[in-house]
Amino acid sequence: MRIGFGYDVHRLVEGRRLVLCGTEIPYELGLLGHSDADAAVHALMDAILGALALGDIGKLFPDNDEKYKGADSMELLARVIEIMRKNGFALGNADITIVAERPKLAPYITQMRENLAGAFSCGIAKISVKATTEEGLGLAGNGIGAYAVILLEDK
Ligand code: MG
Repeated sequence: MRIGFGYDVHRLVEGRRLVLCGTEIPYELGLLGHSDADAAVHALMDAILGALALGDIGKLFPDNDEKYKGADSMELLARVIEIMRKNGFALGNADITIVAERPKLAPYITQMRENLAGAFSCGIAKISVKATTEEGLGLAGNGIGAYAVILLEDK
């Protein structure tokens, strides 16, 4: 078995979509980034690559590459999952914590888990997505962060 950890954060700004775990969430602000800035999927991809000791998404999908401008992070995740499989590993389970002062994410958690389970072609029971605030400290509503831990099993 291999364990991997990932962390990402993006700034909240006007005029951008808010996409987390492939789910678009209606909100007056969105995440700024070269791709769709899905911080949760970015953390998850870094966790997979970390478990494989293959670097990080910045190395794989450089943010100065026009190819990845506005990229759908779920499509990038599909490519990272392919790399995981080519290296002989399968998903054990994944646990993601999204840190957001607002908006409230609870109504979207099930959809997020289903999106990720679809990407891995696994049952939803292997995918946990949780959301927490920082009680007005830390990012304090200026951004959204995400932590991901993943367990990979040798196939
Ligand atoms: Mg990112």
